Order: sequence, then C-alpha cells, then structure tokens
Amino acid sequence: MCLRADCAESNKPIAKPDCKRFGYLTAAKGGFFFTVGRWGVRLPKRSFMTNSSSLASHDILTKRFSGRVQFAHHFLPCPKIRHVLFDFDGTLSLIREGWPEVMLPMFEEMLPPTSGDEPAGVRAMLLDDIMTLNGRQTIFQMMKFAERVAERGGVPLHPLEYKHEYLRRLEVRIQSRVNRLSGDAANPVEFLLYGSIALLDGLVARGWSLYLGSGTDEPNVKHEAELLGLDGYFGEHIYGAQDDYKSFSKKQVIERILRENQVDGDRLMVIGDGYVEIEDGKNAGGLAVAVASDEANNGAGRFDEWKRKRLLGVGADIVIPDYRDSDVLLDVIEGK
Ligand SMILES: [Mg+2]
Repeated sequence: MCLRADCAESNKPIAKPDCKRFGYLTAAKGGFFFTVGRWGVRLPKRSFMTNSSSLASHDILTKRFSGRVQFAHHFLPCPKIRHVLFDFDGTLSLIREGWPEVMLPMFEEMLPPTSGDEPAGVRAMLLDDIMTLNGRQTIFQMMKFAERVAERGGVPLHPLEYKHEYLRRLEVRIQSRVNRLSGDAANPVEFLLYGSIALLDGLVARGWSLYLGSGTDEPNVKHEAELLGLDGYFGEHIYGAQDDYKSFSKKQVIERILRENQVDGDRLMVIGDGYVEIEDGKNAGGLAVAVASDEANNGAGRFDEWKRKRLLGVGADIVIPDYRDSDVLLDVIEGK
C-alpha cells in the first residue's frame, strides 16, 4: 500500500557506507536513496494514477459483478495467464488481521519526541511508512523505523531487535487464533478472506499454477497456510521471509516463476493487498489484481479506501474488496 518504498536489497552497496549522518538522502535514478547506518532504503517517486475514469470505461464489465470492483483505465484481458502469485496476509489469510494496530503503537512508543510534534502528524507519518512497505519482509519496516529514530537524534536499535519485539507483541494478539485453528475450535473460513476457497478452486479448475509469497517469516507462512487448509493449493510453492533478508523478495519469486517455466510476464497474474506485489507484478509485465480488503470487516464487501487508492496508484489493473465474484473475475481476466 501507499507509495512504493523499495529497499535496496539488491546488490548495490549503500552509496556512502562511511557516512555517519543518519537519514542521508541522495537523488537517484527514479527516486531517492536513504541510508541509515549500514541499511539502505530506496524510495522511488510516488506514482499516483490521476485518471479515475475506469468505472466509466469498463462499465459493462463492472455490471457483471455483484459486489464492488474497479477497473483501471489500462485494464485489458490477459488470456495467456497460467501462473498466479498470491500474497498471503490480508490477501488470503486474516490470521494476522490487525497487525498495524500492533506495529504502529510500538513505533509511537519508541520514537524519540521532537519539539513541535503533533501526535496525529507523527502517527500519520509512521502509518504511511508502515503501509508503504506492506508486502515486503517485516525487517524493512523496522529498518525504516530505525531511520526515523535516527532522524530525530536517537540511537536506533538494530532493526532485528525491533522486529523481535514486534513479533512478540503480535504473537499475543494472534496466538488465540492460531490455537483455535490448531485445536479445530475454529473453522478456517473464519480467517480466510471472503471467497478465497472458491477463487482458488476456480484457478485450479483452469489448470493454472499457484504460488504463495509472503513478507512473513517462511515457517510461519507455511504453518498458517496449513492451518487454513491452503497448503494443498500451493504445494512446494510457498515462499516467505528468510533470516537473510536479501535472499528473499517477491521480485525474486516472480523472476523464478518466469525463469523456471520459461515464460514471459504476460503469463503471470499477481493478487495482493500490498504495494510490493502489485508493483513487482506490473514491472514483470503481469496482470495485477489488487485486493483492497477491509480485514476487520471480512465479508462486508467494502473497500479499504487507503488500499484501493494506493494500489491503483502503483498500477493495479483491477481492484476488488474480496473474492465474492471470483467466477466473473476469472472470466473477465480471460476475456470471456
Ligand atoms: Mg498482504
């Protein structure tokens, strides 16, 4: 969600590794590059789509849906699609619903104050940072926060320390959900975005290959996918964050899908509620279905407006709140 903040996990050394000034900013091709200690964060320019005439230009398609949908003006059917990469949290799984309500207060609590701070402004800044990096591995949100601490003259902890504390707090929130699912006290559908199973079944019926990529640590993703009964849909193709954060990214997963199947991006569809997968999918030449899910009100069929606007802004082709119209959605994507 929000502006793209694409960390420079790539390969490039940080521009000025000896720079002792935190928050060092340099203009770079396509955006800006921040350094925080030895951590680098690349922030490409915001790209907001200003043309919101998609509803008008795709009115006929829209009317086929019983629930809400929005087509970007550039949407075209993609009958060649055979590979589908899903994000996990907020896209299929709701086990971690409410995670920003854990991360944001933690950051507010740990951020050094400065004179002139207004709580609402600080909160908005931190939330934008958090949601900007939604879809990437959690460590990147912690790296960005460390940068904020340093900007204010504080001495940031190592991002891993922030991550461990965040996960400790999140665990408190979600443990009862995991326990209920583990003990069969909860129906998995309770923690699946509305219509998920119908969508997955529709994809399997078409013979398309499914992949799961998440910024959550891989062992947790695999465990939670199993609890939700999703492991059978994805088999070996479940990928998540690694201890060595440079060894995983959704971009890498996409490149691997295309390489191993020897196909171009027009065979790929990405479905997610985060900036990262939408942008990476589009950059690879694929179709991007943005899920502007209102996680706290699953089944209500409403857009999360923040996600809707931001995901359209980074090039999503279609935006839906959930999968209540999965059959129509897949037909439209195929050009039927
Ligand atoms: Mg997500």
